[in-house]
Amino acid sequence: MEIRFDHTTLGQRVLFGAGAAAANIATALRDLGASRPLLVGGGHTAGVVDQVSEEFGVAGHIREVVQHVPAERAREAVALAQDVGADAVVAIGGGSATGLAKIVARDTGLPVVAVPTTFSGSEATDIWGMTEDERKTTGTDLRVLPRVVVYDAELTLGLPPDLAVHSGLNALAHAVDSLWAPRADPINRAMAGEGMRALVPGLRRLRADPEDVGAHEQVLYGTYLSGVALSSAGAGMHHKICHVLGGTFNLPHAPTHAVVLPYVAAYNAEADPESDARIAEALGAPHGAAGLWDLAREVGAPDSLGKIGLTEDDVDLAAELATAAIPESNPAPVSQENVAQLLRSALRGDDVR
Ligand code: NAD
Repeated sequence: MEIRFDHTTLGQRVLFGAGAAAANIATALRDLGASRPLLVGGGHTAGVVDQVSEEFGVAGHIREVVQHVPAERAREAVALAQDVGADAVVAIGGGSATGLAKIVARDTGLPVVAVPTTFSGSEATDIWGMTEDERKTTGTDLRVLPRVVVYDAELTLGLPPDLAVHSGLNALAHAVDSLWAPRADPINRAMAGEGMRALVPGLRRLRADPEDVGAHEQVLYGTYLSGVALSSAGAGMHHKICHVLGGTFNLPHAPTHAVVLPYVAAYNAEADPESDARIAEALGAPHGAAGLWDLAREVGAPDSLGKIGLTEDDVDLAAELATAAIPESNPAPVSQENVAQLLRSALRGDDVR
């Protein structure tokens, strides 16, 4: 079989080590030549913030971070970075902290050091997102790709177990959705496969023992690979649906991903059996949707969109907005009617096995 593709590997340094966050942030900043970082987040990692503040002349600190990056907050952060003369941004937190830092980077060109405390995977992508007038806009820009990622499994230990598994399922969604995204190629598909193979057992271990540092490491490793796969391949049908549900209907990000994923996998299974086989293999299931549906229940994710805030009245608008955004690369044909049907199944929590 002929192999042909056009793949770009994005340049990013990754420092991975439990208990080493403060030391690795210092290394990252020194190697970037930065001495006046703007800190974003850090609410759950006071010790790390203190150590960084002792060593560097912190130019400013945005402690309060809001989900989905409201445009007004983003503009304030950009202005603050410029006013205080920051020379780098250190984002310590989940996707919301990284997301705010990314807008600062997009608008000022400052380098970002991302220190994830969830499994959002945003640190591995050049994708930014912002919400204005209840609509979430996303885009890609190389300036927003964090220059350095510092992974420390001790920082995710503090996550409440439910939040941890929802967030880990969000990471799994990155790997799965990248398989049928517009720039899917053999390299990012390989990363997605390895990401899924790390995340699935990692999440099971994490649910069994939330204090298991090794499980957190495994999930963080899978998170990174899955984020790289998504960034490289682009966002597929699943992400377009979830962005609408989060941006327009204000559904919580990670649980939304956890609920929607099996329905998208079921939607595409017949049209893309090779991707379905990869997902099934990682899950040890007869087919992808069944494995994802079972895993979500096994680790205790919410079982329907109805339980996390969507109503029947929202379905038609959600389907209209999502359908307009779903890329042409989607293996199964997309229509507003089909997407509405998918949403209604997820709203009720229908069994996809
Ligand atoms: P989040 O950053 O809002 O964090 C969720 C909650 O967890 C918050 O209340 C936060 O305070 C808390 N938290 C974070 N770390 C903690 C810790 N260690 N201990 C205890 N509590 C902790 O949510 P998220 O799921 O990490 O990220 C979601 C956001 O990221 C969304 O806006 C989403 O669109 C964005 N995102 C962007 C990309 C991208 O590539 N641009 C990828 C994934 C997610």
